Amino acid sequence: MSAVASPRGVLVVGALGRMGRAVRAALAHERSLVLAAALEAKEHPEQGARLEHGVVVTHDVAAAVAQCDVAIDFTTPAVTLATANACAGAGVAYVAGTTGLSRAEADALDALGARIPIVRAANFSLAVNTLVWLVRQAAQRLGSAFDAEIVELHHAAKRDAPSGTALRLAEAIAEGRSGASEPLVLERAGEIGARPTASIGVQALRGGDNTGEHTVMFIGQGERLELVHRSSTRDHFAAGAVRAAAWLAGRTPGVYRVEDVFGL
Ligand code: NAD
Repeated sequence: MSAVASPRGVLVVGALGRMGRAVRAALAHERSLVLAAALEAKEHPEQGARLEHGVVVTHDVAAAVAQCDVAIDFTTPAVTLATANACAGAGVAYVAGTTGLSRAEADALDALGARIPIVRAANFSLAVNTLVWLVRQAAQRLGSAFDAEIVELHHAAKRDAPSGTALRLAEAIAEGRSGASEPLVLERAGEIGARPTASIGVQALRGGDNTGEHTVMFIGQGERLELVHRSSTRDHFAAGAVRAAAWLAGRTPGVYRVEDVFGL
């Protein structure tokens, strides 16, 4: 009879947030993982609440990290960096879904990959990562004769703009067209003159409870190709992050791509 490995303990950072709640629900479907600790802001009104498996919500980072093998984090850049640092000190793997990190913050997080396995992604949806792949292919084939524009729509409470996913899609366009990064046009108002060639327009819309829509347009002479992803729940982001956490089990330290997790 072969021994059944016991599930790996998961720390959910931001456990009472919109994504934190979705991640906790998704954990119920992954038998190799179990909720072991839940971090929340010190001032959160539900501090001390008892969650699944008797886990009590805490703001004690050291105590939470000590309970776990892997962390899943959807919070803010400052919280993500601080918690990932604590996890690196304890050898706890890290799945970081927080968006809006500056270049310096992203580099600081990636540097922790020298000590622990990390997956950092602006979007953990399988379909969105497939969209990134399709956009790169389309950009390669259409070239810069087609102007690339991205429009994203998210709920009114979203803190960062444009979305991390829109920025990832812009990167994919540049990768497909030239490999070099291309200037982003983030707003247009007033006498702006003709559209600069080899630029990528990114426009952010905000409202209601929308969990995320991204449209990538390749606009040519007399024709337009549009690739669209529409999300109506957070469940697929959470499922992808949980899948990444399970996939990290036993990996050596390093920064892994979400595409590696999905085999794209
Ligand atoms: P949210 O505001 O609902 O949740 C964030 C939670 O973090 C809150 O509950 C907040 O109290 C908590 N928090 C604040 N300070 C904390 C601290 N010191 N320690 C622990 N927890 C703390 O936000 P959300 O909608 O869940 O989004 C969170 C992040 O995830 C955003 O950056 C968003 O863009 C990103 N996101 C990423 C993906 C993806 O697939 N990568 C998908 C959706 C959202």
